[in-house]
Amino acid sequence: MTTFQPALRDIRYLLAHVIPTGEILALPAYRHVDAETLDAVIAAAVRFCASEVAPLNRASDRIGARLENGRVVSAPGTPALYAKWRAAGWPALVLPQAFGGQGLPELAQAALSDAINGASLAFAMAVTASRAAARVLIAHADEATRRLYVPKLASGEWAGTIVMTEPHAGSDIGLARTRAAKRADGRYAVSGTKIFISWADHDLTEQIAHIVLARAEGGPPGVRGLSLFLVPARRLDEAGRPGIANGVRVLRLEEKMGIHGSPTCEVAFDGAEGILIGAEGDGIRQMFTMINTMRLEVAFEGAGIAGAACDHALRYALQRPQGSVAGKSGPQVIAEHPDVRRMILTMKSTADASRALCFEAAYRIDLARAGETAAARAAGADMAAWLLPIAKAGCTEAALEVASLGIQIHGGHGYVRDAGAEQFYRDARITPIFEGTNGIQAIDLATRKLIGSEGRLYRAFADRIKADLSRTKGNRAVRVARGIVQDGLNDLDEVAGQFLAQGKEGALDDVLAGAKPFLELAARVAFGWMLLRLAAVDAKGADETTVEEKRALARFYAEHVMPDCEALALSATQGAKGLCAIDMARFSNG
Ligand SMILES: Cc1cc2nc3c(=O)[nH]c(=O)nc-3n(C[C@H](O)[C@H](O)[C@H](O)COP(=O)(O)OP(=O)(O)OC[C@H]3O[C@@H](n4cnc5c(N)ncnc54)[C@H](O)[C@@H]3O)c2cc1C
Repeated sequence: MTTFQPALRDIRYLLAHVIPTGEILALPAYRHVDAETLDAVIAAAVRFCASEVAPLNRASDRIGARLENGRVVSAPGTPALYAKWRAAGWPALVLPQAFGGQGLPELAQAALSDAINGASLAFAMAVTASRAAARVLIAHADEATRRLYVPKLASGEWAGTIVMTEPHAGSDIGLARTRAAKRADGRYAVSGTKIFISWADHDLTEQIAHIVLARAEGGPPGVRGLSLFLVPARRLDEAGRPGIANGVRVLRLEEKMGIHGSPTCEVAFDGAEGILIGAEGDGIRQMFTMINTMRLEVAFEGAGIAGAACDHALRYALQRPQGSVAGKSGPQVIAEHPDVRRMILTMKSTADASRALCFEAAYRIDLARAGETAAARAAGADMAAWLLPIAKAGCTEAALEVASLGIQIHGGHGYVRDAGAEQFYRDARITPIFEGTNGIQAIDLATRKLIGSEGRLYRAFADRIKADLSRTKGNRAVRVARGIVQDGLNDLDEVAGQFLAQGKEGALDDVLAGAKPFLELAARVAFGWMLLRLAAVDAKGADETTVEEKRALARFYAEHVMPDCEALALSATQGAKGLCAIDMARFSNG
């Protein structure tokens, strides 16, 4: 068993040499932060995750949260950890100063998210929705509600949740039946049953602000009838303090494959008092403020777990003697065997690329939020919109592959619990499912983002990669990687072109049939691009050995992983005929 070590060296390298951190710190919104402060905050954040969060991860997996007398009791040690989290000010890190936040750029959150998700996904989930809830209230709630709730979320005194899913309404949230009846005082009585709600009750804070999608009475069916409500767990008294219970009850906790420390709740709303956020019928549009924050966080869940699983397996491979190696006497550590090296390099390159892509998305979100001109903000928003589904799906699937290889590297010890490798896989398995399944991300990318923008978002992405390829310099490894990334981009160009033409012809079924391999191809290219940027750093201005490592990783990924770009392009362009001609029910033995 080894302990979690956050990737501070890699994060520093990324921020110093690849992501234009200086450009973000020069923006008026972030002038109160200089490079030294940002670095100190990041170092403290990863230290906190390693020394305080990670030690609880295994115990919370073994014991988990439980339901006692209708209330959720979190895994032992979690309330004390949360108290430290609050005291250290981490909930406020990137929230605006006007609401009690520290106003740091999303790049600071990126480092914290990378480390906390690697340290403990279950605990990270306890704190993520609060930040997302604050964002949605800042963007859409009335002034009084914002002033009352956001500072409490920023201080960590109160927590937040995201409440959408119902038994019959998952990806198709338009089927939601939870209803909201307007009362004479302008508030709403929210009633219905929601399922799978993370941290819907706990013993970490005295108040929980549930951000709930529900149908205001008389609203039309489908997503157009959905509105967004703030439903506190406890009604506030006249002094604004949490008072009596507000008709929100946890009915049961799910028994799950992983993240046992994160309670997944079935929740009944029994006429619970809710405050409308924004306008009736605008719920989905507003909820996207929260969903987008959550989607980047889920991408970081993937990147964080991939990084942690990789480091964990590497340390095992470096000390486990087994089998001989030509030219050396006696058993050698398994990291010497070519097949194990291949697994380690696949894990490390994939984990590095995941992290880099998430940081790139965070950088674009900073530009979208705080760019100096409307054009800069729009360009940042466009690139963030394009990258989000790729990062969410690409990094979560990467995490599964890395975690699975981590088990393989441990051999039989990986399959049993003591070595600690299998928890990464069990925990990571949810990430391609929630916050929009990866199938839904693929549809979003191919239809809304590609066809919906008539190719504009795609062109910005492809043009940026082309520009980077043309100015990429380096040794032979970099040149080899550059050629293969260029080939992958050519494949992607062809598929994008075909989808745009099919969109014009109304052949949407063909696009939907190829959407997932298209997203996978886009993720391969994006990963290759990020690894190339890590590799193309001028060795004179950085640690030379690290640059050499990055070059080897970029070449490895290009030569060993990216060859499947061609196959993905072929699969993406096969159309719907082969999929839709078959009667699925005939395959069933039932
Ligand atoms: C541990 C855990 C925590 C969760 N936390 C929360 C939370 O805090 N808040 C919350 O609101 N929800 C939460 N969820 C719910 C989660 O977001 C949903 O499970 C997810 O959105 C998928 O919905 P579903 O499970 O109903 O699957 P379905 O929507 O039934 O999907 C099943 C399969 O069909 C595919 N599919 C569905 N529709 C389409 C389509 N139109 N085209 C192509 N493929 C399609 C999907 O991709 C998937 O593969 C959580 C779930 C879990 C398990």
